[in-house]
This record gives sequence, structure tokens and C-alpha cells, in this order.
Amino acid sequence: ALELREVTKTYDGAHTVLDRVSLEVRRGSFLAIMGPSGSGKSTLLHCASGMDDPTSGEVRVGGRRLSGLNETKRTLLRRKHIGFVFQSYNLMPSLTVEENLTLPLRLSGATADGGWLGHLVERVGLAGLLDRRPAELSGGQQQRAAIARSLAARPDVLFADEPTGALDLDTAADVLDLLRELADEWEQTVVMVTHDPAAAARAHAACVVADGRIDAYLDHPTADDLAHRLTALGRR
Ligand code: ATP
Ligand code: MG
Repeated sequence: ALELREVTKTYDGAHTVLDRVSLEVRRGSFLAIMGPSGSGKSTLLHCASGMDDPTSGEVRVGGRRLSGLNETKRTLLRRKHIGFVFQSYNLMPSLTVEENLTLPLRLSGATADGGWLGHLVERVGLAGLLDRRPAELSGGQQQRAAIARSLAARPDVLFADEPTGALDLDTAADVLDLLRELADEWEQTVVMVTHDPAAAARAHAACVVADGRIDAYLDHPTADDLAHRLTALGRR
């Protein structure tokens, strides 16, 4: 569902943050991205999701090229085929949950598929909360609303940058279970950046980024293995 080929990102024509990163994430796969602070994880997520354009290399989502386009084209493709959730949820405070969920559809001129939205709301456990505003929800409920919003347009890939970073342990575990189930049951491709080895261990696979390159790729990662690798990188 997602392919990166030799993706390089350079800032100010000098500072290379991503150095020829290649990566393939198959449909229904849940990938975690880990790495030290400043290693390039967010930059990787931004380039892979069309929020930013790589300096060179190619990004494909669902077979469509997302890189090397002008910003208007890239934004249109991103709205249609990419979902993104943030650590801070980024819901619109003045809108209800329901209005938040349908906002991206309205922005891209798509009509909401009521059946799908109902299904989605049930699945993420927001039924009964649709008339509330974000401030009237717990952090976990807000993140569930953000996940539902990101899936409203049925994106090929859901990207998440530290989605559990602001949540307590139990709530974080619920959100991680949800992401895992979306991958396992709905074949939703998920790519998540996290600092937490235990969170990454809930994914099907994990890659460790260091100095703008993929230092390791692990299938069925364990929290212990990931923690050891990160500690070793910290000492390097
Ligand atoms: P963290 O774990 O702290 O979130 P990260 O792995 O997500 O870190 P990035 O945000 O991708 O790291 O940043 C990688 C490097 O790129 C850093 O050195 C950062 O200062 C630099 N960088 C990020 N965005 C820009 C930008 N817009 N302009 C210049 N440099 C940038
Ligand atoms: Mg980051």
C-alpha cells in the first residue's frame, strides 16, 4: 500500500535529514517507526504522507505517485488517500464530534457515506458521543475521534505521529489495540511513530531510524529487543 524508494530529504540544501530511505508497507500491515530524537522519524512520516515532498526519491501510495507533484495536486491526493493523526488530536474545538468527523469530507467535496461512517463510529467506540465537543471528551476518546476522522475518507494508509504520547498507560493500550485491530480486521495499513518500545511491539513490524537511515527492520518486534537497540544507538 505504501512504497518509498530512495527517499532523501535535505533542508537548506545542506542538512540531510533522510538519506535514501526505501521502505515497503503492505496492505493491512501495521508498522512502527522508532529512533532517537532528531533521527528523522517525523520527517519520514511527513514525506511518506504527502505533508511534505522529498528532495529526491519516490513515494507511492496505493500505486499512485505522491512525490514530485505540485502542492495543490499533492494536497488533493493526500486528502483522498491519506489519514493522519497527531499526538495532540488536533480536533476543531468549536465543532461536535460528528462535525469533526465529516469536516475533511466536506473540505474535499466528497459526500459522506453514512453507512461507512456509522460503522466507523461503532468500531472506534464513539456511538453516543457524536453531539459532544472535544473538550467534553477524555483524551482517549479524543484520539478515537481523531482516528475516526482520519479514516472517514477510507484512506489507503493511516499515519500516526506519537498517537499515544499524551495518554496514560491504559488509555494508550486501548488506542494501540484499536490500531492493531483496524490492521488485522479491516486491512487498514497503519504507520506509526512512537518513542515507546511497548507501543511499537503492538505493531506487526518495526523499523529503527538512526541518522536518517533505517538501521534495523524487525518483524514481530518485542519491546525488550527494541529497547536494547535504542539504548545501543544512544551510546553510539
Ligand atoms: P523527535 O523524536 O524529537 O520527534 P524526529 O526523529 O521526529 O525527532 P525530525 O523532526 O524528523 O526528528 O527532525 C530530524 C532533523 O531534521 C532534526 O535535526 C531537525 O532539527 C531537522 N528538521 C526538521 N524539520 C526541519 C525543517 N523544517 N527545517 C530544517 N530542519 C528541520
Ligand atoms: Mg518527531
